[in-house]
Amino acid sequence: MNRTGISWTDFTWNPVSGCTKVSEGCKFCYAEAWSRRWHRPFEVTLHPEKLGEVRKIPPGSKVFVNSMSDLFHPKVPPNFTVKVFRAIESRPDVTFQILTKRPELIGAYTSSIDSGGDFEELLAPANAWFGVSVENIHHKDRIAWLRHFKYEWPLLQLSKIFVSFEPLLGGVGKLNLKGIDWVVIGGESGPHHRPMKLEWARNIVKQAKEQGVAVWMKQLGGMRPGGNLEDFPEDLRIREFPHEMKVMEALK
Ligand code: SF4
Repeated sequence: MNRTGISWTDFTWNPVSGCTKVSEGCKFCYAEAWSRRWHRPFEVTLHPEKLGEVRKIPPGSKVFVNSMSDLFHPKVPPNFTVKVFRAIESRPDVTFQILTKRPELIGAYTSSIDSGGDFEELLAPANAWFGVSVENIHHKDRIAWLRHFKYEWPLLQLSKIFVSFEPLLGGVGKLNLKGIDWVVIGGESGPHHRPMKLEWARNIVKQAKEQGVAVWMKQLGGMRPGGNLEDFPEDLRIREFPHEMKVMEALK
């Protein structure tokens, strides 16, 4: 568990490390670069010894889960995902933020739960927010998967759901954000950053506003992008957390 400078959270917690690339947004993966720098393997590795770290989190904090991996990677066994969920549930006074590029695998964890037919047993923790990363127009299907697990096979029915448009590598066109609680927008950072056009970010902000979704403008990208709101164009100085009451009627 580490304190972090990521503006939308307070701590990172990595009960899993390592991953494999799945789409263009992974090309300059920070987690892989970090592993290489410190001569650590980037294989998917479970860290059960970290599950107990949740006991030390200050009440009211926000925690980004698996900043160095993807909890829904196919090499993470479903029974380990359930252990992560149990640890999360043990701290209802903390918000956990889980971000994936593999939302189609969100439901896999249920295979290791013997619920005796009790659907409540299968639900993901209410104090976890689930998000998908969408870097360009080609991966918008991830948003539909997230909505599927909230409203159709509603494992996430107690959870907030969000979309992280970071690193934003292209325009995303028209968006269906029905049922989405929050969007985060950011450019790519680091020595190989691919530039983000402001018009791409503005398009997302506009549609989020029209559809009643909270917006967190994280940064504009670059070698060392500052997260200082004052440095952003005035119309992009927006940092909101999800609205407390999502209007479910929007889906009807
Ligand atoms: S899914 Fe995330 S952690 Fe995994 S390779 Fe891609 S950017 Fe890295």
